[in-house]
Amino acid sequence: MEALLGKTLEELQEVALRVGLQKFAGKQLAQWLYVRRVTSFDEMTNISLKGREALKASYTIGRHAPVREAVSVDGTRKYLFAVGEQFIESVYIPEEDRATLCVSTQAGCKMGCRFCMTGTLGFHGHLSAADILNQIFCFDDLTNVVFMGEGEPMDNIDNVLRSLEILTAEYGCAWSPKRITVSTVGIPAMKRFLDESECHLAVSLHNPFAAERAAIMPAEKMMSINDVVALLKQYDWSHQRRVSFEYICWHGVNDTIVHAKQLLHLLKGLNCRVNLIRFHEGVDRDFPASDEKQMEWFRDYLTDNHLTTTIRRSRGEDILAACGMLVNALNTN
Ligand code: SF4
Repeated sequence: MEALLGKTLEELQEVALRVGLQKFAGKQLAQWLYVRRVTSFDEMTNISLKGREALKASYTIGRHAPVREAVSVDGTRKYLFAVGEQFIESVYIPEEDRATLCVSTQAGCKMGCRFCMTGTLGFHGHLSAADILNQIFCFDDLTNVVFMGEGEPMDNIDNVLRSLEILTAEYGCAWSPKRITVSTVGIPAMKRFLDESECHLAVSLHNPFAAERAAIMPAEKMMSINDVVALLKQYDWSHQRRVSFEYICWHGVNDTIVHAKQLLHLLKGLNCRVNLIRFHEGVDRDFPASDEKQMEWFRDYLTDNHLTTTIRRSRGEDILAACGMLVNALNTN
């Protein structure tokens, strides 16, 4: 049966008419789904009993709880959700003054980044807007959501844009788009995200030289990092909306002075920030992580040359919840 979760106001109004309710019941449905976040039709007390029965006969709500949970020593929590035959993961990251959820947009991923454990899973399907929103609605204290879990969000752009609309629309959760960041390796569909959403963007950069980047990120062949940056330069990043670049540091691979200089050259004139990420070794791949001192040098070099750069703190490493570690390990526990 079709889920109501993930439907826009207009679609909920159509559902209302289809089951014999008035059009205005569409707005009531949106309230129950997106504001009150009910998990059953019986809770929709301002919808007639007959209306609720008619809804039950044709639709589900689309909500389901995670099937497993793992808690890290640093408080990070990883959740496993069943989506059809597949399993996907979300990571809840509590901090002093905020709580962030990292959500998945696909089961597995097609992009095949060589350093990423999720990439080794292969692709097993797109998540619907209901599957994306369900991950978020399982937590009622979130201040931020990042679309950085399993999958390439721009490769599932329709469902991602639909979930962003519901999170930010007045009839939906009415969140500020500033609370949401969507990541990408940089593929052509990102233009739709730039045009149709106001949420922040995080680009997985990892190497400023196109040829070197192509060797670790096959998506470079779909859209070169030079074209990604050229596209971003056409948009306004000087007000509320932000763009950042994720940069995993590997010893001798992308943390040299040559790379720092090229990075400055590539991003010149773009109002952005670079986040350096410590690589999690132990993955069965031949990428040596940069040491802390080299990362600090790299950060200082970029910062001294007016490119805002930070070293991002890593969370949840012990439960395989950190960047590039989502491999549904919970599933095999
Ligand atoms: S890093 Fe992101 S885009 Fe690349 S394979 Fe992993 S999940 Fe996919």
